Amino acid sequence: MSPNAESTAFRSALEVIRAVEPRVADAIGAELADQRESLKLIASENYASPATLLAMGNWFSDKYAEGTVGRRFYAGCQNVDTVEALAAEHARELFGASHAYVQPHSGIDANLVAFWAILADRVESPALKKAQVRQVNDLTEADWFALRRELGNQRMLGMSLDAGGHLTHGFRPNISGKMFDQRSYGTDPATGLIDYDRVAEAAREFKPLILVAGYSAYPRKVNFRIMREIADSVGATFMVDMAHFAGLVAGKVFTGDFDPVPHAHIVTTTTHKSLRGPRGGMVLCGPELADQVDRGCPMVLGGPLPHVMAAKAVALAEARRPDFADYAQRIVDNAQALADGLTRRGAKLVTGGTDNHLVLIDVSGYGLTGRQAEQALLDSGIVTNRNAVPQDPNGAWYTSGIRIGTPALTTRGLGTAEMDATAELIHTVLSQTTSGESKAKYVLDPALADKVSKQATDLLGNFPLYPSVDLG
Ligand SMILES: *Cc1c(COP(=O)(O)O)cnc(C)c1O
Repeated sequence: MSPNAESTAFRSALEVIRAVEPRVADAIGAELADQRESLKLIASENYASPATLLAMGNWFSDKYAEGTVGRRFYAGCQNVDTVEALAAEHARELFGASHAYVQPHSGIDANLVAFWAILADRVESPALKKAQVRQVNDLTEADWFALRRELGNQRMLGMSLDAGGHLTHGFRPNISGKMFDQRSYGTDPATGLIDYDRVAEAAREFKPLILVAGYSAYPRKVNFRIMREIADSVGATFMVDMAHFAGLVAGKVFTGDFDPVPHAHIVTTTTHKSLRGPRGGMVLCGPELADQVDRGCPMVLGGPLPHVMAAKAVALAEARRPDFADYAQRIVDNAQALADGLTRRGAKLVTGGTDNHLVLIDVSGYGLTGRQAEQALLDSGIVTNRNAVPQDPNGAWYTSGIRIGTPALTTRGLGTAEMDATAELIHTVLSQTTSGESKAKYVLDPALADKVSKQATDLLGNFPLYPSVDLG
């Protein structure tokens, strides 16, 4: 590849866009500048490679390809077949899964595909068998009515939101909470850790059809072998949503009991978080659920996004390289260095530390709400997000926590020394911020915010983002 290939590619793309709507070209350029300047600690974000980004900007976007590889409802899908098959093959190899479905447009879509694959397998199929028909269109009106009621009356047990679970795991504002009768398991108030005996007890009492594990704000490993045993003991289907930590599974940091793929009946993920691919989703499963999963379209998806599947194939190929395992290990080393640096300076962390990519600071220790802390950090050039802590007295809006994560900064090349410096910046801002007259208001000396901002920019100075891309 010529040394300037990436710069040339992005410059030319912007020139073409600028000729039609210059404000869009300007916004794209401004986004790169902003990302380059900010100390991005958002645990769910990353920086995809230039190859991944470029794989999305092309005529695959023009193509309808409903169906699956080799079985499409549209003609002329041979090239889409090529990239979808490649993405699925890379996913199977990377995660050691027997089946991969790479069409979901996002994490929420991947979860919907999984839920309905499970419902189809465990509720719809037996009903069809009992009525001795092959498909739902052949049911009588009465049988169809009964089946619809039964599909809408199933139980799910998942992790509670304030313990780090996700909205799509059966919470009322999300469709999953309207579909399922949901109950949740939390964490031990003393340790902040999942108490497997309590999960088992909840499962025995509630008898869910689906047991869900996975999180977006739990800083520890989950033992998926134990969770599978719990699911088996009550006849539940075990689903793991690894949206946040898929990169750590891909990079073989989570192995054995902590690798969800060998233990779960079905695994869902996003592709854009620690996995560092394009914005999208994916489902992995064994042969038992494969046919149902492949019916994601038309069940909950329309046409797939072939340009994104092309980018998934590129990113998954990257994740199969040996240096990705090194990246994944550095993500965790960095998170632990950040946690240590914060703890040494007196910050209170949920569970006292981390063994994955994220750290949850309980900012009540600084006398602040999550909202106040998030804004004060943002004023100081540090991008994080507020997050509830277990049994949060400030609820889900103001919260008492700040969630920080290392996948993005690790991609830029920052290491453990820089994480200690980052901990110093965070602690400085939080300890110098005071609570204002409401849960959203705070007082922070603008000169201090400015000073920290400059220190953050200096810290990033040695680690250029997209060093190969010069927009001129
Ligand atoms: C991010 C996330 C999702 C949703 O992903 P989107 O692509 O934003 O729809 C689902 N589940 C978990 C656990 C997540 O962290």
